[in-house]
Amino acid sequence: MADRYDLVEHSSVPLLRCSQMVSNSEPWLCGSPAPWAGLSGPSGTVAFHCDVHRQLADAPIAAGVVFTQVTLECRIRFAAAPPLDLIARREALHRLENAVRAAGGLLTVASIDAQRCRYTPEWRGRRDLASGDRR
Ligand SMILES: [Zn+2]
Repeated sequence: MADRYDLVEHSSVPLLRCSQMVSNSEPWLCGSPAPWAGLSGPSGTVAFHCDVHRQLADAPIAAGVVFTQVTLECRIRFAAAPPLDLIARREALHRLENAVRAAGGLLTVASIDAQRCRYTPEWRGRRDLASGDRR
């Protein structure tokens, strides 16, 4: 496992986004696509900027730029709209890819599955459904 100071090389990276603070509440950063980069403060870290927030000393982002990547491992569930599993999987993946792309992320799917489920509201017990009571 890489520690905090190891650099991990990637040939495909998420969209680099503007780090300009624009608000005191979330979302507090601009977050727009950032074609510009410059050093930020005495720490020497790189700050990325959009066209609107470009700083005088910024330069176009070049290959080899170092950035912090945040990876979230999560489980996302959709109720399938299409009746066939294969089409339902593709439709759900398409929706997720679009949502992640719109948020500036890069999606990597480890697995995708489909299963039959029954909606059982908490106010009804499984015994009601098993007995055929469909009120
Ligand atoms: Zn910006």
